[in-house]
Amino acid sequence: MTFDFPVADRYRGLATSPVKEIFALAARPDVVSFAGGIPDPALFDLDAVRRCYDWVLTHQGQRALQYGVTEGEAEMREQAAARMSRFLPTSADQVQITSGSQEGLFIAAQALLNEGDVILVESPTYLAAVQAFAAHGARIIGVPCDDHGVLPDALEAAIGEHSPAALYLIPSFQNPTGRTMPMSRREQVGEIVLRHRLALIEDDPYGDLRFSGEALAPIASLPGLSKQTLLMNSMSKLMSPGVRIGWTRAEGPIGQTLAVAKSAISMQSSVVDQLTVARYLETEDLEGHVAQVIDVYRHRRDAMADALSGRLPDSAHITYPEGGMFLWASLGSGINAQDMLADACDAGVAYLPGWSFFAQDPDFSTLRLSFVTHSPDVIAESMDRLVGVIDRTLEQ
Ligand code: PMP
Repeated sequence: MTFDFPVADRYRGLATSPVKEIFALAARPDVVSFAGGIPDPALFDLDAVRRCYDWVLTHQGQRALQYGVTEGEAEMREQAAARMSRFLPTSADQVQITSGSQEGLFIAAQALLNEGDVILVESPTYLAAVQAFAAHGARIIGVPCDDHGVLPDALEAAIGEHSPAALYLIPSFQNPTGRTMPMSRREQVGEIVLRHRLALIEDDPYGDLRFSGEALAPIASLPGLSKQTLLMNSMSKLMSPGVRIGWTRAEGPIGQTLAVAKSAISMQSSVVDQLTVARYLETEDLEGHVAQVIDVYRHRRDAMADALSGRLPDSAHITYPEGGMFLWASLGSGINAQDMLADACDAGVAYLPGWSFFAQDPDFSTLRLSFVTHSPDVIAESMDRLVGVIDRTLEQ
């Protein structure tokens, strides 16, 4: 007989991730999967990372294997602050090191949200952020967006209607849509956030993966906004998701609250990994590495966009992201991308149906395709198959 643990209310109904079965389907050996946002492991800067682990274990071995500082190791906080200071002056003591920005999101939810509070999010938005907020009993309300991100009028209306505790945004190369909020929209949204004295969680793991055009400053860097924004970066998409190093920038007393939450959750992030990432940033060539990654990803984005362009139904709309990892398609025409997935897998191609990224009113005709994992040839062939599946679905 099994024992029934009295599972907390906040985790009832969250018992499984809505995308777990989809990933299981996509993992079939005969299927080329575009479902996960998985960096191409062939591009990892393995020799340089090995050099840094070796150096840390040789020169700082005892410290690296010991407990560390909750806020993060000094070297890592310095490096994180230097990266953020490209857009927004940041001191090391404003940085909380986290185990990926996913933990940053969980910590932010711990620090900011009471049971029943409303948090506004883009519609659609990053699923695991919604899960982190929902696990704290928050009510998640999606705000309508266009190709430039959240709509200012809709944001005003949602603030008026729901009196939210916070707003969560991914302004650059958003997950799942790949879209980017231009500077003018950042300014409009920033003005609203400022006027309503709303806490902003600004999640920016993809901003440095820009294939073309000018880098855009985060909303947090606009006048007045740094004090009411938790700005998050991560090494996951630039160096390695496996090292689990990210950070959150905060000003004032909220930083101490984040540290209390971090201490309760995990004491501190791995010291050996922090020292190694700091060493990498100090002595290796991250910019050169990222430039190589960007070059490869740009070709893959083009291979995917070219293979789909002009071949989807007239009702379809696809994004053409200037960076990041994802392309988003709304197929329209009454197609249900969730229902179509089994046929797509039988044809050897998998994607992530888009419905799970909506807090409310899911658009079932949407799907997310990650273009970073496979070579241009494999992408082109797989997109041919996907177009065939869509055509057959429309004929039925
Ligand atoms: N935020 C967004 C928008 C993401 O897409 C991801 C990764 N999929 C994360 C946060 C978490 O990334 P990590 O914890 O690896 O830094």
